[in-house]
Amino acid sequence: MNRNETSAFSPELETYLQEAEPSQLKELSEWLRIPSVSTLPEHKEDVERAAAWLAQKMTSIGLDNVQIIPTGGHPIVYADWLHAGTGAPTVLVYGHYDVQPVDPLEMWTSPPFEPAVRGDDLFARGASDDKGQLLAHVAAVEALLATSGNLPVNVKFLVEGEEEVGSGALTAFVPAETGKLAADVCVISDTHILSPEQPLIIYGLRGVWAGEVTVRGPSQDLHSGMFGGAVHNPNQAMCALLARLHDDAGRVAVPGFYDDVQSLSSQEREALAQVPYGDEQLLRESGAPAVWGEQGYTVTERIGARPTLEINGMWGGFVGEGFKTVIPAEAHAKVSCRLVPEQPSSAIGPMIERYLQQIAPDTVEVEVRTLQHAPATVVPLDVPEMQAGARAYARIFGVNPVFSREGGSIPIATIVQESLNVPILFMGFGLPDDNLHAPNEKLHLPNFYRGIRVGIALMEELVSS
Ligand SMILES: [Zn+2]
Repeated sequence: MNRNETSAFSPELETYLQEAEPSQLKELSEWLRIPSVSTLPEHKEDVERAAAWLAQKMTSIGLDNVQIIPTGGHPIVYADWLHAGTGAPTVLVYGHYDVQPVDPLEMWTSPPFEPAVRGDDLFARGASDDKGQLLAHVAAVEALLATSGNLPVNVKFLVEGEEEVGSGALTAFVPAETGKLAADVCVISDTHILSPEQPLIIYGLRGVWAGEVTVRGPSQDLHSGMFGGAVHNPNQAMCALLARLHDDAGRVAVPGFYDDVQSLSSQEREALAQVPYGDEQLLRESGAPAVWGEQGYTVTERIGARPTLEINGMWGGFVGEGFKTVIPAEAHAKVSCRLVPEQPSSAIGPMIERYLQQIAPDTVEVEVRTLQHAPATVVPLDVPEMQAGARAYARIFGVNPVFSREGGSIPIATIVQESLNVPILFMGFGLPDDNLHAPNEKLHLPNFYRGIRVGIALMEELVSS
């Protein structure tokens, strides 16, 4: 597996790491056999078993204060090692031990909870998301404690069993336990890198707002032969309103939407330009006939670093087979936004409602209801911890990581960042084709072993940052 490009560590640690690979794989496989599907009540005991397995592992390698903390939902696992001495930074490692359901089961080449190695890949539900990525950090700590009895930094592990169902318990736990969880940096390995050879640090995740627009007209559905042309059709009014949510340049037309949005720094634009992703790949992946979006920005910038507004669904009147000549009483649309930092996610719903009510004719009534919102996360590229992360990747992979902002959202990351006031390092070891949440989820094993090494290198680099 050709992982000796760089002699990153002492000969003793190198030897340990090479010899430990079979047992690291065996232990990960053992954990993956526990079907900790958090959303299915029939797996509640399995979820608890997965938490217990992790706690037992943490105890066995010499971590302190190992706790399985009961919650209203699935338990949180906590452990720490705080003997690095005064002045040493404290690293909070976040992960989750719950997994997604496995259906459609018949699409799996081997059973999802019977881990199977084919080629360089380990196939099992949770292999990449997130048991394998989290266990890499546990194994990194284990390697250092086993060979030197010491860690260069203080370490705290915070592992939840509800990531796949909305992180309910952790959302309340983190703000309530800021003392226990206090740290200098939080590391999250629940993301992917670009390829087996190209590491990636995600330094921003967008926030989200989602809601529902309702347009009301007549008090009941009407016959178009009797009322058509004489009352305003809510479907028609809805189309006219939604059409004005964007201007011709692809910008969101809602007044105030961009007020708090900071323009991209030249450093950021340069970093994003390094990401090997462009129009061609976007068209291939999406199957769309052409690229569309806000003028003046590359697709990488549009996806990761600019806010957007999407119309996700529309309904109203008669949508069955055949036809019914009706003027509906109401029209509905689901609308959502991806948000960048500084955009207050709670203000988006009222802002859209104000705009739509202002432009709506007095022939209809408009209402906007917020269903969900969470702010964005972004970590400045020049914070020392970010640079330490980059050096750790470079030492093990032999190439510098690229930096990117992702389109998605991880609400718990924002809560950790805001409650604990720490930068977040999204340093993943997964790959884009790991089949997360899909059949045949896999973990590329060379990345697992490299992930363990990056975990060690990161602890060392954080000391000198
Ligand atoms: Zn995950």
